[in-house]
Amino acid sequence: MSIKPGAMLGLLGGGQLGRMFTMAAQSMGYRVTVLDPADGGPASSVADRHLHADYLDSDALRELGSTCAGVTTEFENVPAESLRTLAEPCVVSPAASSVAVAQNRILEKNFLAANGFGVAPYAVIQNSSNIHNPDGVIQQKRPELFPGLFPGILKISRFGYDGKGQARVSNPAELDTAFIGMNREPCVLEKLLPLESEVSVIVSRGFDGEVATFPVSENQHRDGILDTSIIPARASPAIIQNARDIAVRVAEKLDYRGVLCVEFFVLADGRLLVNEIAPRPHNSGHYSIDACVTSQFEQQVRILCGMPLGSTAMHGAAVMVNLLGDLWQGGEPKWEQVLRHPCVKLHLYGKLEARHGRKMGHYTVLAESTEAALQLALEIKQSLE
Ligand code: ADP
Ligand code: MG
Repeated sequence: MSIKPGAMLGLLGGGQLGRMFTMAAQSMGYRVTVLDPADGGPASSVADRHLHADYLDSDALRELGSTCAGVTTEFENVPAESLRTLAEPCVVSPAASSVAVAQNRILEKNFLAANGFGVAPYAVIQNSSNIHNPDGVIQQKRPELFPGLFPGILKISRFGYDGKGQARVSNPAELDTAFIGMNREPCVLEKLLPLESEVSVIVSRGFDGEVATFPVSENQHRDGILDTSIIPARASPAIIQNARDIAVRVAEKLDYRGVLCVEFFVLADGRLLVNEIAPRPHNSGHYSIDACVTSQFEQQVRILCGMPLGSTAMHGAAVMVNLLGDLWQGGEPKWEQVLRHPCVKLHLYGKLEARHGRKMGHYTVLAESTEAALQLALEIKQSLE
């Protein structure tokens, strides 16, 4: 059963991913109610309706369930139980069970490893005794790939993002200190790998099992935050095909219905390891708004509403650059430096306060080749700094 344009859709979360979902839904004639505990967020400021309440607020969930035909999320840390509650009165995509895995690094890594997907060697750190008694308690996966886990990265299992909730550690003493710094919350210790590059795939999978991947994005990070995405990724056809195939298999194994991002590490020998998955559109897929027939957000709407998937074909090459709050230090950035280029698209998220490391917007350069797009993207970046 499909949800027809004109219907009200519900969205959990109020950030920029929600804003872009809302805009895509509205442009297809849907209306959107945003549930966001914050005021004046990027999504609620464009939504038809804002429910100003906690994600666990039973009145708000009842209201959302009774007024919306379908509900989706833009925020991976939304309580899975809220999605489960909403699945009674309405269509929900993605399902609580998928989000529960993707939002917890321990469940995520264990799911990936158990299903044969390559991941960085890791150990689950549940409590201090794991650190002092590693042989007995740490679950070390695939140690044969790399000797030991040091130097490594300790990653908190819940609520980490943009490199937050992570610490580099080179020995057990540093691990101990870092674990205390994470308030002894459950963590994953992962081996620090020499990366050739990083790529990601946005995969869309409908309720009927129809699946489509977006072109593979090559991602460059700065201080743990995505800085630049280059599409199509500059990798061999074999790596590109492999990334798309693995992303589809991850979605199928999760029985995922919706838009999912699979982030990969590319090793020097061409091997792909799954870094993490996000149960929603992703920053590395923002290029699709301007460069693809169908954006990742329109695809999210289509899946939620039981419509056929749109084409993920790309018009050319694209480079997306994030605009972080740091750029605002000297006042409003000189947008004319972006807008004077006719094939560059500016997106700002309407955030009122520009903080260090905060994603405020992005721009996408469209060109015939990745080289040309990258060159212009870098010129613009320099002119803004
Ligand atoms: P987040 O949720 O913050 O995106 P990630 O696990 O994706 O967390 O880590 C952010 C970035 O840190 C990655 O994109 C990568 O650049 C780097 N990184 C993370 N884990 C490793 C690792 N095991 N080896 C090398 N680099 C890593
Ligand atoms: Mg990441």
